[in-house]
Amino acid sequence: MNLLTDGTANNPILRFCLDVLERHGESWPPAEDVLAREFVEWFGCRAFVSKEHMRELCEAKGVKLTFVPLPSEIRGFNCSFGNQREIVVCETQISPFDLHTLFHEFREMLEHDFRELGRPIIGPKGSLEVQAEQFAILCRMETASREIPGFLEMAQNVQNKWMRYLSFGLVIVFGTAYLFHCILTPQMEEVLSEARRQRYVST
Ligand SMILES: [Zn+2]
Repeated sequence: MNLLTDGTANNPILRFCLDVLERHGESWPPAEDVLAREFVEWFGCRAFVSKEHMRELCEAKGVKLTFVPLPSEIRGFNCSFGNQREIVVCETQISPFDLHTLFHEFREMLEHDFRELGRPIIGPKGSLEVQAEQFAILCRMETASREIPGFLEMAQNVQNKWMRYLSFGLVIVFGTAYLFHCILTPQMEEVLSEARRQRYVST
């Protein structure tokens, strides 16, 4: 029988951090894209999800996700209290196409846990806000790249030759547009102003 005595039974995020440490501890800190790939794999998220599905995904990872009206300059924030975690996202910011804020807040929580474990990823000169933005972009690109083979397969199965070409073209156009959307979504001004506003509550 496996006894879960390390305190991670009710703390999936801490469990994830420990697993990442185990896999990459020897070449610490891992590159941001390595962490993003690990996270997307663990989180099991797709590129397009509804709010309800986002809530379910977060709940499965021990995080309560709420959407509330927030002042326009605040996109979201996160809180940790013992094993209780919460992410609050501005309800007007989020759309089925926008997982950016969610990934950003998760990255901040991950860094919090890595710090608690004595293995921070971001050094004293680094900026958590900037790194969380980069992580969010990388996660969205990673989720999209996981969808593309499925779309290509669908295009491959289209019977009519011209419709098949059209489908391939649409996948390429759509993929490129999505890539740009991932990169351009965050505005640097927002990053800077958010850095002044963000509050991190922890115990
Ligand atoms: Zn932030």
